[in-house]
Amino acid sequence: MELTPRQMKMIEIVKEHQPISGEAIAKQFGLSRATLRNDLSILTMTGLLDARPKVGYFYTGQPVEPLLFDKLYHINVSEIMIPPLMILQTISVYEAVTTLFMYDVGSLYVKNEADELIGVLSRKDLLRFSISATAPEKTPVAMIMTRMPNIITITPKETILTAGTLLSRHEIDTLPVIDPEQPKKVIGKVTKTRIMDFFIQAGHDSEHPSF
Ligand code: ADP
Repeated sequence: MELTPRQMKMIEIVKEHQPISGEAIAKQFGLSRATLRNDLSILTMTGLLDARPKVGYFYTGQPVEPLLFDKLYHINVSEIMIPPLMILQTISVYEAVTTLFMYDVGSLYVKNEADELIGVLSRKDLLRFSISATAPEKTPVAMIMTRMPNIITITPKETILTAGTLLSRHEIDTLPVIDPEQPKKVIGKVTKTRIMDFFIQAGHDSEHPSF
């Protein structure tokens, strides 16, 4: 749950004028007490405001910050994306495996000579290939990758929540971030690991700002 601008303003009003009655808060907005009833119950239920009968509302001193955690879900993909690792469609499966280990990544994005995204190659694709009898040095990655138009992508202005939803709905680990103007141009990547790291770091930051 995220506080609305009106709820944020209500907290500011209470901080400044506490104890303050519901009517007095409503007056500041030029609204009726009834209109603010829902907002007031949300703010008391979340423990941000304390309602004392016949006295009025107090700010409890609890930081609004835990609720800011909700905001994390709305951070743009552009803020968490990492550089993509692109390989040419002509490189061999053997080279792809060494690249995967060398860069310690779980998947590779495959491009054509015009630098356009044409596929994704993951560990499972390589494992599937490994039980076939084909020579890895002689097989180009283009033969075993997942191809366009079946690649699920995301754009930089979409949110972490959307990225996480796509990753889990499609049971994949990685999402190429593409330029909205040029849908075949990859400008970043978002992975399950990156999202997990982001939330873990945000947790540490909120507990110990200098962690
Ligand atoms: P792993 O192989 O390590 O489990 P994934 O779960 O990401 O990694 O890959 C599972 C399958 O989904 C593979 O065949 C892979 O090519 C494909 N895949 C991975 N990412 C995407 C994507 N963004 N869009 C479509 N298919 C994908």
